[in-house]
Formats: sequence, C-alpha cells, structure tokens
Amino acid sequence: MVRHSATLAIDETLRARKAAGQRVLHLGFGEAGLPVPDEVAAALRDAAGRNGYGPVAGSPEARRAAAGWFTRRGLPTSAGQVVFGPGSKPLLYALLAALPGDVVLPAPAWVSYAAQSALVGKRVIGVPVPPEAGGVPDPERLARVLREERPGVLVLTVPDNPTGTVARAEHVRAVCELAERHGLAVLADEIYGELVHDGTPPPVSPAAWLPARTVVTGGLSKSLALGGWRIGFARVPAGPWGEELLAGVTGVASEIWSSAAAPTQAAAAYVLDDPPAVLAHVAAARRLHAAVVRAAHAAFTEAGALCRPPEAGFYLYPDLAPLRAGLAARGVDGSAALAAALLDEHGVGVLPGEAFGDEPGALRFRVATSLLYGETEAERWRALRADDP
Ligand code: PLP
Repeated sequence: MVRHSATLAIDETLRARKAAGQRVLHLGFGEAGLPVPDEVAAALRDAAGRNGYGPVAGSPEARRAAAGWFTRRGLPTSAGQVVFGPGSKPLLYALLAALPGDVVLPAPAWVSYAAQSALVGKRVIGVPVPPEAGGVPDPERLARVLREERPGVLVLTVPDNPTGTVARAEHVRAVCELAERHGLAVLADEIYGELVHDGTPPPVSPAAWLPARTVVTGGLSKSLALGGWRIGFARVPAGPWGEELLAGVTGVASEIWSSAAAPTQAAAAYVLDDPPAVLAHVAAARRLHAAVVRAAHAAFTEAGALCRPPEAGFYLYPDLAPLRAGLAARGVDGSAALAAALLDEHGVGVLPGEAFGDEPGALRFRVATSLLYGETEAERWRALRADDP
C-alpha cells in the first residue's frame, strides 16, 4: 500500500482536528494562504465555459504563454517544449516514469521525489547536503556517487524545499558540468523560483548550464498560492532528447489525467503573460514571506536553534540539536518526537526532517504568512496566544 505523503497526512490530521473543534496551527503544509488577485480570479471566471477536454500536453494558449514566461526568465523556449499538468507533482511523477535510470536525491529533499521514484520502480541514491548548500550536492561527493552507482537522473530543487536556501550559480554550474560528463539528466524543480527574497543572489537554472538534458518544472501553487487550482508545467529541452521525453510524459499523462483542467489552464495563460497586476502581487507576496520568515528566523535563533537565514520561499528548517538535552529532559527525544509533541500538546503541525529523508534533528516550519492577513488561521493563532499566561 502507498502511504499518505507526509505533507498531506499532516494536512488531513489538522483538518480532522479542526473539524472536531480543536484549535490547531497549521505550519506543516506548503501553502501560504494568500488571497487570489482579483484579475486572476476574473481570468478563471472568464474561462468557466471551457468544458471540453484539451490536448494532453496543454492548450496552445497556455503552452505559448509558458514559453514566453520561460524565455523572459532567461531560458529561450518554444511552445512545443512545454507540457501542462494538474500541478507539477503529477508532472514530476510522469517525468520520473519517463526518464531512464536510478535517481540521485539530495537529502533533505521535498517529500514526494523519493516516494514517486519508488512508485515508478526506481532506486533512490541519497546524497546528504548541508542546509546552506540550497539542495545541491557537493561536486566531489556527487562524482563519487556517479562513478559507483551509474544513476540516470539527478533531482535539483532551486530554490530549495525544505531548507529555504538557494544554491549559488557556480555551484549549480559545477554540478551540471559533472552531470553532463556522466550523461545524467537533471530534473530541476523551480517551483519556488518566483519567491527569492531581495538580497539573495538570483538563482541560475540548471537548464542554463546543461541545456540539452535538463527538464524544468514549475507552477502557480507557491508564487500565487494557487495550490488548489492544480496547475503546473514543465519545460523539456529543444531537440530529439526533449521531444522523446515529452512523448514519454504525455504518454503517462494520457493514461492518468488526460489533460489539465481547461479553465485553470486559461487562467494560467493569463498569469504567465506577466501582466502588471500579477507581477505586483507576486512581488508583494515575496516581500511578505521574506519579512515573516526573517522574524521567525530571529526567534528560532534567539531560542538557541541552529537555523540558516532563509533566502527564498516560506519555510524555515531549524536544527534543534543545541536544544536536544533540554528537550530530552522534558521527555522529548528527537525531531520526530518533537513534531509529535507539538501536534499532540499544542495542536501545532510541523514536519520532522526525517520526512525529507534527512537525519533526525531538524523540523520544517511553513511560516504562516496568512497570520498577517487576519484570515481564519490568524484568528486561531490569536486565540492560541490569548491563552498564553
Ligand atoms: N515541488 C516542490 C519542491 C514542492 O514543495 C511542491 C509542493 O509542496 C511541489 C513540487 C508540488 O506542487 P504542485 O503540485 O502544487 O505544483
């Protein structure tokens, strides 16, 4: 049996507790809870009449818009290189199914890569990566793995989840050059690419260093908090290798989801044309995430946790090793136990590093930007705080 993904499991646990009348604070799921910009909501409303199935790879207008979006971000792209899906998660699954060979996975890494690799019959080779490296392995360490294991795929998440750090361009370049020498395909998950905080050196896509063998995935779930719209996209390289991969991915798609929802594809086409209202909204979200995450980082550091300053997105990944003795004295041993205690005793949902394939020690917090919006979560938070002595 395939077990629930850790992120969805915590989401459902907290939903159930809330439905049972318990107070919860949900910091476990990768969702920012920001409102939908009016213009984007209008684009979806305008597309409500689109009730037909569409082409498996995506509608021509959405593929054209995504091609322009990638091109304006430094990766020249034609519409034929783009495929849409109901979220980037199923696209990642289809890509892992279509790409040959075993998978090199940095540890920690987003929860689903390992599970999806296993589902498509691939072996996962974990390579530990320190939190400050932005999810990209050390080239020498990777070179050893490539010599010994001969894998086919390297997954890179730039910016990274769970660490919230961003790999530096030269580091990504060194790893891509190595991948090229070993005939490796790079699966570059760039879903947090629009949420790089001001002051962080801008990331460079692995596709810029390894253009012939890098697939890039992205979507609107994080930058615009549209996870519930279930829309994602991928860009394959130009040329025969990319064409074959696209055929493999659309083959999987044709047997599983047929096509992404037509109305959300139309709204995505509007978003991916970069209208000023969308750019302004994403910029505001980025500033908000940065401010909240920095404040939380200061609080964790003051409490004694080891925590890299976040560089993108809305996660913090503090290592609680310095607090271990104090926690053990209170009967809490390790990150999984602490996550369980936070949930059971305080209704606070977070994920232990183990869910991301890491050694015990760290916890991932999705810092709740919606606290600033006075949404229901914020109300719950205030209620929780009101009980504090
Ligand atoms: N990739 C990463 C690194 C993520 O964190 C997530 C969501 O949490 C996804 C992909 C999947 O996003 P979606 O399927 O909503 O596009």
